[in-house]
Amino acid sequence: DKFNIAIDGPAGAGKSTIARLVANALGFVYVDTGAMYRAVTWRILRAGLTPEQQAEVIALTERMDIRLAPGENGQQVFVDGNDVTTDIRSAEVTNNVSPLARIAEVRRILTVKQQQMAAAKGVVMDGRDIGSHVLPDAELKVFLTASARVRAERRFQEIKDERTDVTLRQLEQEIVARDRMDEQRETAPLIQASDAILLDTTAMTILEVVDRILDLCRT
Ligand code: C5P
Repeated sequence: DKFNIAIDGPAGAGKSTIARLVANALGFVYVDTGAMYRAVTWRILRAGLTPEQQAEVIALTERMDIRLAPGENGQQVFVDGNDVTTDIRSAEVTNNVSPLARIAEVRRILTVKQQQMAAAKGVVMDGRDIGSHVLPDAELKVFLTASARVRAERRFQEIKDERTDVTLRQLEQEIVARDRMDEQRETAPLIQASDAILLDTTAMTILEVVDRILDLCRT
């Protein structure tokens, strides 16, 4: 039987690491929907567009081929055949992705792709609107959160080698600004679905969170 798991929450809550480990443990396909919004953002910036140029952005999104493939160190992302796995994590993409993700038509295009990915086989899908909007019938929904400071600290450890100029404080401000934009947008905002289980991971290790989710799958 098909079993889909939706994992939502704010930036830096550990969603992608945890979702990937849960998917590996269960033999499910992992789908990082944030990477899809990042891929579109990367492509429009490369075309010299900004998220404000909605008509051009939508036209480009419709023509774009986005592919996700399992890789050795997590999921690989391809746009029109180019490997953009590393490039979509840049500061420039990160700071333009929430304005792009407000565009209702872009969300509609990506939501259809995400629903197709979940239709064939069981998935663990992480994002902001998966339990509330993309997969409202998912068998298990988890909303992961942690304090803004702890989320910033985790992100800081991840990126400190690539962004040597950024301070912890700046990172916390970027994360809080992105969450606010994601919570306040009109279409499919970041929200805990009414039937999602809330896990505050502030004082939990990654493995504790993974075990808790695997337990929830068995109940
Ligand atoms: O998960 P990640 O931080 O990579 O997501 C990047 C951005 O993509 C989020 O801040 C949000 O604006 C957008 N996003 C979204 N809906 C999703 C996943 C991500 O709007 N399901």
